[in-house]
Amino acid sequence: MAVPLLDLKRHYLPLATELEAVVLDVLRGGTYIGGPYVEKLEKQIADLCRCKRAVAVSSGTDAILVALMALDIKPGDEIITTPYTFFATAGCIARLGAVPVFVDIDPLTFNIDKHLIARAVTPRTKAILPVHLYGQIADMDAINSIAAEHDLAVVEDACQAIGASRDGKMAGAIGAVGCFSFYPTKNLSGIGDGGIVTTNDELLGEKIAILRNHGMNPRYHHHLLGGNFRLDAIQCAPLTVKIPHLPEWNNKRRANATRYRQLFDKAGLTDSNFRGRGQFIGPGVTLPTEVTPGHIYHQYIIRVSSDHRDRLIAHLKARNIGCEIYYPVPLHLQECFKYLGHHDGDYPESERASIESIALPIFPELTDSELEEVVTAIADYFG
Ligand SMILES: *Cc1c(COP(=O)(O)O)cnc(C)c1O
Repeated sequence: MAVPLLDLKRHYLPLATELEAVVLDVLRGGTYIGGPYVEKLEKQIADLCRCKRAVAVSSGTDAILVALMALDIKPGDEIITTPYTFFATAGCIARLGAVPVFVDIDPLTFNIDKHLIARAVTPRTKAILPVHLYGQIADMDAINSIAAEHDLAVVEDACQAIGASRDGKMAGAIGAVGCFSFYPTKNLSGIGDGGIVTTNDELLGEKIAILRNHGMNPRYHHHLLGGNFRLDAIQCAPLTVKIPHLPEWNNKRRANATRYRQLFDKAGLTDSNFRGRGQFIGPGVTLPTEVTPGHIYHQYIIRVSSDHRDRLIAHLKARNIGCEIYYPVPLHLQECFKYLGHHDGDYPESERASIESIALPIFPELTDSELEEVVTAIADYFG
């Protein structure tokens, strides 16, 4: 049986009638920029994240870019972030002429290592940009306290963590600004590109709303240098239909993660546990470490020793089981960041994660027999 990594058709079908109705409503209504669906989406996200303001923007990438613009990030400013993330996190920093200062990850959570942040702070540091990777919120208490001590802003790259929580707080409402993506593979997915910025700072929220529309306020008067970061009404409308279902989808992802653990345990594959710092005891798989029950499993990432990783992926692909590497090249080793002067070995945990991790199917509509199929295929490999 083939098991896809993600199946957007299965996701669409149960809501097809409602989704098609709102898309048609936009088409027929003639309000294509701004309007009631944009406002409704912003209200729903502000409620979901329990924050004061949400500003819909053109993508998760633009959410990060406009958040940094609103914080007046200038050329030469330093922003502390992780090298083990999607490109956009650091790309937005660099596009403003600022410098991404990388800090290695905690190997158990794949999130920025709080113990390494303080020593990366310099007089030029302006902000910390943690990523809530794979749907698990970074250690924000530690990050916020370092930020407070050095007077730094905290921007959450929450693109993979919509609806995630930690210690009673929602992703996107813990730092100064939160950035989300509605890219079709994300837990809350649009029918194209989209994103949103969240904040509890009303002045900052208003500034972001103005920057999104060319910095224009009032019309044709530009005090700020903004851009076109608007989200179309036709993208907002389907999202307003999907948001009420997000908690149930995130719960289903969590249930799938629980089921994987049972199945891997039953198959005897998890006794050779990863001990951190790249040490494996014999063959087998390491399952994700959940430090908070608010983890929403945007991705389900297992680790295997690097001598098995690529062979296991080939084995899974041959059996038509979807899997992927997030991320094969950490950002400090990307060609476009060569000018930063990093080398192999600079961020050992990120480098190790890039050669040991495999993403398995975790989407909400997976059936139990599909989960069993994935684990059976991995058990057959280790044979
Ligand atoms: C998806 C993603 C982004 C970018 O979002 P887009 O909507 O694709 O622009 C940024 N950061 C992380 C961590 C992401 O996963």
